[in-house]
Amino acid sequence: MKIKSQFILLSSTVLLIPILFSIFILLHTYIHSPNRYLLSGTGKIESFERSFLPENQAEALEKSLKLLAKDIEAVAYLPSDRIIIYSSIPEIKSGSIISQSELWNFAEQNSDKYFFQFVRTASTDYKVLLLTRINRSLVSTEKKTQLYLKILLLIIILTFIALFIICFISRTVFKSLNKVEHKSVRLAEGKLDEKIIEDNYSKNSNEITMILKSLEKMRCDLLEVQNRKNRFIMGISHDLRTPVSVIKGYSEAIIDGVISDNEDIAESMRLIDSKANLLEDMIDSLLNFIKLNDTEIKQNLEYTSITELIKEFARYTEITGTIFKRKVITKINLPPKDISVPLNKQLVYRSLENLFNNAIRYTKDDGIIEIEAHTEYNKKLINDTSPHNIIVLRIKDNGSGINQQDLPNIFEMFYRGTNSRREEGMGIGLSVVKNIMDTHGWKISVESKKSIGSCFTIEIPFKS
Ligand code: ADP
Repeated sequence: MKIKSQFILLSSTVLLIPILFSIFILLHTYIHSPNRYLLSGTGKIESFERSFLPENQAEALEKSLKLLAKDIEAVAYLPSDRIIIYSSIPEIKSGSIISQSELWNFAEQNSDKYFFQFVRTASTDYKVLLLTRINRSLVSTEKKTQLYLKILLLIIILTFIALFIICFISRTVFKSLNKVEHKSVRLAEGKLDEKIIEDNYSKNSNEITMILKSLEKMRCDLLEVQNRKNRFIMGISHDLRTPVSVIKGYSEAIIDGVISDNEDIAESMRLIDSKANLLEDMIDSLLNFIKLNDTEIKQNLEYTSITELIKEFARYTEITGTIFKRKVITKINLPPKDISVPLNKQLVYRSLENLFNNAIRYTKDDGIIEIEAHTEYNKKLINDTSPHNIIVLRIKDNGSGINQQDLPNIFEMFYRGTNSRREEGMGIGLSVVKNIMDTHGWKISVESKKSIGSCFTIEIPFKS
């Protein structure tokens, strides 16, 4: 059922309650109104001792009795003969002999339960005394009626107020619902450039504005993913095309005989080979990223000496640094005894290499790269209340640094910083590293300043 219909149903129900209540009061007032009793007669009478009266008077009395309403009980008394000639009151039998004062007493004794009335019938030449009675509970008193009317008035006023409030609320709700419907349809159609809410929309916050805000966040995220995808496609096509065009250019030159000298051919083949290797690397890292499956990695972690792995990595950086003309300073300050933690050696090593390769790529010749490791005990990690012992590993460089606006996105897939324009790459490396660190339950963070350098810190918890 649509919210609109549900709302209408609810409003009708709310309105129906006072309406039904009003109808009830009106009916109640009508049923208990004295008019109702006094107007309609029953049209029949029983056990009427008409022989005590002349025929014409008996007929006249009978007519009067027939006019009495159903709920009015009556006694016709003949004072001259002290006889009851008609009775619809069960306590007094028709034909019984009774004095006038006894009749009077009877009325007095029952006056708390009934209203009594003595009438001398005009049509019977004042000879017959008519005693009528009606149950007090049946007769609505003036006060009661007035109270009902006041309640009725109050209900009518309240109904109008409720109606006004319902109209007001439904107008706002329907307006917002229509907006949500319209905006979500636009979103589903892929119109990501249209804002769902304005920036100053936070004033009237309700469930619907919360939905709109969530939709707006979703729109921004989708837009960001779309932009990143576009950036990635542009980047990857550019990065893959560069080595391909070099390979194509040199191979065509050799085939066409443009390069004919043996030495030049050998040099060109070396270049083709290096570009083909680069291409292979790029395709590999793409495939690796696609293949990376968190659950599989988690299931295959093995207790391995992290201290040994870091020392091995430090040796690798010293050698590689010399080849790439970087000054690598290693400060490994770990306990002599091995510390083992569950890890996937290949993936962890690849991550460290990745961070070190970035440090080389984003520093100039003779740039300084520091590899530093030490232990800290009983340290509280973010999102964890219990203290941990940790190994802190830092890879620090004095290269180009990362722009402040790039820092929050640096670990996101396909994100490339503004400082990376001249470098080949796809913005995959750091997101893979982050993924691997997360899978191990380790923490990676970065501090960086433009033109000063970057420092990547990894925190590895261990049990002593
Ligand atoms: P890329 O292939 O673009 O290097 P990465 O995922 O390895 O992809 O890095 C993402 C971005 O982080 C890079 O584009 C670069 O802007 C920035 N970056 C990473 N490491 C460094 C570093 N050591 N110094 C400066 N910038 C870095």
